[in-house]
Amino acid sequence: MLNLVLFGPPGAGKGTQSVKLIEKFDLVHLSTGDIFRANIKGGTELGILAKSYIDKGQLVPDEVTIGMLASEVNSNPNAKGFIFDGFPRTQAQALALDNLLKEKASAITMMLALEVEEEELRKRLLLRGKESGRVDDQNPEVIQNRINVYNAETMPVKDYYMAQNKYKGINGIGQIEVIFNQLCQAIEGAAN
Ligand code: ADP
Repeated sequence: MLNLVLFGPPGAGKGTQSVKLIEKFDLVHLSTGDIFRANIKGGTELGILAKSYIDKGQLVPDEVTIGMLASEVNSNPNAKGFIFDGFPRTQAQALALDNLLKEKASAITMMLALEVEEEELRKRLLLRGKESGRVDDQNPEVIQNRINVYNAETMPVKDYYMAQNKYKGINGIGQIEVIFNQLCQAIEGAAN
């Protein structure tokens, strides 16, 4: 299986690149943010709970997020591989993901990290807020909180994959196609 963790701060371009990567490599895209938003839209119990955290720019608790992710993986038994987008965001989530894949005699192939500096992220998120109507992208305080949570809680997840020699950083500033090609090269390099 080809199992990729697409990593990077809010607004780094994970969603944009995921759409292109799943098509090229025939993978299942699991975006925890998208799944939460679908649940919010559908008014499910999970959605109502998630909304209370997302609106403030906080992480949804690990227990809830891990349970949801596991059930998504389990409901795709024939997948050739997955792109995990927005997951894992904490060390506990990274450990849980390893254990889940181990049960399936599989593992994470690599972590691809889109590197973008903070000033550019703030600009991109505010623009997305105007265009998409995403509430968490419209308030500068919520955006800053997400960036702070990323730096404090999510950044350490990079070390987890670095220690396993699975980390690959990619410059996330530039043309979408150029970034995509760099991601593809990194994946093909790891697969050979
Ligand atoms: P972005 O990366 O642009 O902030 P996402 O769509 O990935 O946006 O996530 C939106 C929100 O959903 C996050 O700010 C967080 O509240 C919640 N969320 C998404 N993934 C996770 C996760 N793995 N663990 C906890 N909360 C999450």
